[in-house]
Amino acid sequence: MKKLLCVFFALLFLAGCAPKTPKAQRDIFAMDTLMSLQLWGEDADAAAEDVEAMLHHLEARWSVTREDSITAGLNRGIRPEMTPQELALLSEVEALYRRTGGAFNPYLGEVSRLWGFYDKNYRVPDAQECFLAIQAGMLDMGAALKGYAGDRAVEILEELDVERAILNLGGNIQTYGHKPGGEPWKIGIADPIRGGTLGVVAVEGTMSIVTSGSYQRYFEQDGVRYHHIMDGATGAPADSGLVSVTVISRSGLTADALSTALFVMGLEEAAAFWRQSEDFEAVFVLADGTVYATAGANLSGCAYQEISS
Ligand code: ADP
Ligand code: MG
Repeated sequence: MKKLLCVFFALLFLAGCAPKTPKAQRDIFAMDTLMSLQLWGEDADAAAEDVEAMLHHLEARWSVTREDSITAGLNRGIRPEMTPQELALLSEVEALYRRTGGAFNPYLGEVSRLWGFYDKNYRVPDAQECFLAIQAGMLDMGAALKGYAGDRAVEILEELDVERAILNLGGNIQTYGHKPGGEPWKIGIADPIRGGTLGVVAVEGTMSIVTSGSYQRYFEQDGVRYHHIMDGATGAPADSGLVSVTVISRSGLTADALSTALFVMGLEEAAAFWRQSEDFEAVFVLADGTVYATAGANLSGCAYQEISS
């Protein structure tokens, strides 16, 4: 009887817990970075397939280097054919450019190219070259496309029978649905100075968690580090005293564009921007390792100063 009871309780326990291992798991190389998808639910495989196709499609449409992309067309001054959805993305990106006062600037493509971030032929240009590169106004969706892909992925998951998912889109994390037992998703934030994990943010349901940092892509010359997030005012890497910014938002596009923008703004301007916004939370790491987090960021595992409204 005792044995039977044990089996009964074991079965009850199993029934109460959805399986931990995802039904579908896949690694993808897209948008110049590694991505990985983990999905649970009846349609997990079909959804993974559709998300992968969507990622490759977005990359082909908005690549700065592919001759036949919308981006390349616009940058050549021709009028590429666009779907209403693609036009809507361009106008949302334009709105984020205005909302951030140009800190998120999708027209710095020539600046990134000039510094060698396109072909890894790195060099430090002079101020005149930087000025002319800003004037070129070349479209580059690099700071927003992975975030937007997160939003599109959510649409796909909503249409299919997917219970929950966690997508790592090249460092941009997109959660979907709820973990069993109402447990929050716990997302580790990289320690930009010492490596490893700095702390953990807990999020509920469908959310985007995006980090922009100077430790991600950079080159060094004469002992100086030059990273890939550009300041549209100078045409040079942003020098705001921050080493990383993580943004948590329901919108992937917003999280991605704002993580780049807040990095360019620096802590004080970014905190003021947060106070007048209602659609995101953020975690900031300064060059000396100090951590700041907005009141709703749900950060744990490290000491930090809270930014209050
Ligand atoms: P990552 O793409 O490495 O995750 P970001 O989202 O911060 O990081 O985007 C940085 C990319 O966006 C750069 O590689 C460049 O293509 C472009 N970019 C650089 N500076 C800016 C800026 N101030 N605003 C918008 N896009 C930028
Ligand atoms: Mg970004």
